[in-house]
Order: sequence, then C-alpha cells, then structure tokens
Amino acid sequence: RPKKSFGQHFLHDRRYIDDIVRAIAPRTGDFLVEIGPGEGALTMPLLAVARSLTAIELDTDLIPALKDRAAGVGELAVIHADVLKVDFAALAHRHGVARLRIAGNLPYYISSPILFHCVEYAAAIEDMHFMLQKEVVERMAAEPGSKVYGRLSVMLQLACRVVPLFEVPPQAFRPPPKVDSAVVRLIPLAPHERHDADPELLHAVVKAAFGQRRKTLGNALRQLLDADAIRSADVDPRVRAETLAPEDFVRLAKRLAKRLAAR
Ligand code: SAM
Repeated sequence: RPKKSFGQHFLHDRRYIDDIVRAIAPRTGDFLVEIGPGEGALTMPLLAVARSLTAIELDTDLIPALKDRAAGVGELAVIHADVLKVDFAALAHRHGVARLRIAGNLPYYISSPILFHCVEYAAAIEDMHFMLQKEVVERMAAEPGSKVYGRLSVMLQLACRVVPLFEVPPQAFRPPPKVDSAVVRLIPLAPHERHDADPELLHAVVKAAFGQRRKTLGNALRQLLDADAIRSADVDPRVRAETLAPEDFVRLAKRLAKRLAAR
C-alpha cells in the first residue's frame, strides 16, 4: 500500500510513463540516477534501455520487490537513503563518470529541498527530468514580474535552463494526488554561463529579498546591504524583489561579499 508519509503516488498510466521515458531518451551507457523509484514504474523502462541504473529510495519496504522486478532487465543498484543526504558529485566520482542524468517522480512534500539540493551539484549533472506539482513547475519557470516568480525561480534559473514539458493529471497516479502535476527538464548551465557569486551569500540575499514580499528591496535587505550598496550593484532599492532579474541577485550577492570582506 502506498504510504502517504513518503509522498507515494505511483504512476500507472502507460501513456505518461512512455512520454516521460521518451523525454528522458535514455542511451545505453548513460549513468542514470532515479530519485524515489517506488514500485519501479519508470525504473524498469529506463533500465531496459540504459542497461544499468542507480535508484535512491527511502522506503526499505519497496526495495526487495524493486530488485526482483529488475532481475533480467538490467543492472539495478539501490541506495537506501534520503536523497537530501546523497552527495551526487561523490557518486559520479565513485563510478568514474563525469556527469549524471537524474530523473524522478518526486515526493511532493520535499520537492523544493530536493531541487535546491540537486542544483548544488549542477556541475556533476548532465540533465534532470522531474515530475512535480504543476504549480511548482510554474514557479520554477516564472519570469520577473510574474505573480509566482520567487526564490525557486531565481535559484533554479541561475543554475539551469528550465524547460517545462507536459502536464500529467491526478488519475495517472495511484492514489491520485490532490494537485495537477507536470514534467520539467532541467539542463545545468555550461561552466561559462554559471554565476560566480558565493552560493551561501546568494541564498541569503534571495531569501531575504523574497522573505518580505510586500516590502521594497531596500527594506527587505536592510540587515545585509544599505541603499547605497544596493545602488552600487546597479539595483534600485525602491523596487520589489519580484521585479529583479536573476542576474541582479548575483550582483547583490557579490556586493555583499565585498562588504563582508571590508569589515
Ligand atoms: N517513481 C515511482 C512512480 O513514479 O511510480 C514513485 C514516485 S512517488 C511520487 C515518490 C517516491 O519517493 C516514493 O517511492 C517514496 O518512497 C520515495 N521517497 C520519499 N521521500 C524520499 C526521500 N527523502 N529520499 C528518497 N526517496 C524518497
């Protein structure tokens, strides 16, 4: 029986499973990592093409059946762990591969933490395909000025190209979730496209800026940067965070780094 506490909603509609596998387009020899394989709805078709796959599953009860189903299909390695504790760079290194391809129908109760976690390892990842709440995909892809533009949009877009692919209705899952779902592709930016701000300071600036949505940027960032410092980063302290482009936050984070260094 699917467990609510693990966010278990298993895909059973063949059409959507096929669409997802086609979107991932696994190739033999890919180093595929699946987050939350569950009963293997995506695992088995991916394994059939890629021949080997590493799955990360938190629920011990699911693992024996998963291994049984994989026998004869391909080489399945299961890591019994919380995905938030998995070091993807170390995993790639251990297997002598440059970059992982990650996929998963994610447990929605921790989808944002999983996204932030994966983004930290962008350099070790070729691409990611995730099933998420449709509303989360909309937030990830939102542009400045949009109502749903926020921390998730900025942090994701500074690390990856965000490509929403298609929607999936609740009836495609067992049990059906209460929300609509969507599949998104994330392609980590190439090294020369990546920002060079300190990740922690960037997090701090973005968090503070959106933590007080109704305030002006000057007010929201008051603990970190004064109005003159914000202006010297080429940003108007009188505007609200949701009007800034992702790159504006990079300049603010760099300005903050300078301020801290000057102390
Ligand atoms: N991939 C399967 C499918 O599409 O039918 C299952 C998807 S289900 C939405 C999410 C899966 O993630 C479940 O198997 C659940 O046990 C697993 N899971 C939940 N929390 C997890 C965590 N912190 N780390 C790894 N897996 C987790």
